[in-house]
Amino acid sequence: MRVVVTGGAGFLGSHLCDRLLADEHEVIAVDNLFTGSRRNIDHLLGRKDFEFVRHDVVEPILLEVDWIFNLACPASPIHYQYNPVKTVKTSVMGALNMLGLAKRVEARILQASTSEIYGDPQEHPQKESYWGNVNTIGPRSCYDEGKRVAETLMMDYHRQNGVDTRIVRIFNTYGPRMAIGDGRVVSNFIVQALKREKLTIYGDGSQTRCFCFVDDLIDGLIRLMTYAGDNAYEPVNIGNTDERSMNDLVAALGEILGRKLDVEYKPLPLNDPVRRKPDTTRARQRLGWETTVPLLDGLRKTVDYFRGVTDAGK
Ligand code: NAD
Ligand code: UDP
Repeated sequence: MRVVVTGGAGFLGSHLCDRLLADEHEVIAVDNLFTGSRRNIDHLLGRKDFEFVRHDVVEPILLEVDWIFNLACPASPIHYQYNPVKTVKTSVMGALNMLGLAKRVEARILQASTSEIYGDPQEHPQKESYWGNVNTIGPRSCYDEGKRVAETLMMDYHRQNGVDTRIVRIFNTYGPRMAIGDGRVVSNFIVQALKREKLTIYGDGSQTRCFCFVDDLIDGLIRLMTYAGDNAYEPVNIGNTDERSMNDLVAALGEILGRKLDVEYKPLPLNDPVRRKPDTTRARQRLGWETTVPLLDGLRKTVDYFRGVTDAGK
């Protein structure tokens, strides 16, 4: 297959490029390098089956491809709130442009959606059938609502134009190649711990998330893209079901580093979801997908990566 990965120089996108190339596909990574970096794809540049195109998905692009993975969008709150109007444009115009491309060349398209479309959920764990509890006018809305519209566009192109669409709702995923200054909790805690700084816990640390290691997530994306069963256009949650509080995460990291970690408490950001955990029954039943990497193993690999790129903690 000829495959385009938007956001291909980002954290998840670069791992997806690796996996697609290992599966012997030809890959075009499209990225404007807002939060992504050439370093993530350095090892791929120069390969005959890989091409990098610096491009903003807000603008249309003409390519001949069989599959489109639309991952372009800043994912960390500090990055998507840096220019919220641009975040909305990236999700909405990006989805429109990629769907237009999919329609023209009859490509299959997968949209990276997010657990954030459930907002601060009142159903726990979250099933795909849950419509969510999202603030339309808060600081997280540019991301949450942008992704909700991207899902709407996928479904409308599917119903109206017969485009072969896939929607994956990704829950918190971590691993090597998260940017050092990414701002998400796993990379923040690891970098702070390696630099022997205090770990910044927002709120009292009792809020929960489920952390999925990147390799498991990428496997889920490939399974959904190649799924040949019924209702392939329906959203699928991909995420770990091992629910942890931020205090648990500090403890897990302390166990790996073999020392007690100092923490400092900071105010909880507005609209920060209290609890989050996916119901992954659909992914299990349709895709035969399950997580394979326990938190401590995934964290160890991520710590090793950050040791290599930060000089800290050596
Ligand atoms: P990331 O910030 O590392 O990657 C996003 C990539 O998109 C970057 O390379 C960035 O430069 C690029 N990009 C941003 N705006 C662009 C634009 N206008 N045009 C072209 N490229 C643009 O984040 P990530 O964690 O790799 O996230 C990838 C995708 O997965 C995003 O769509 C995100 O919303 C989704 N997602 C990720 C998670 C997670 O936990 N990692 C959770 C839910 C959803
Ligand atoms: N968080 C934290 N300290 C940090 C960064 C984040 O306690 O340095 C908290 C944040 O408030 C949230 C959780 O960790 O409750 C996950 O945050 P992240 O930004 O990683 O993901 P999201 O909130 O988008 O799920």
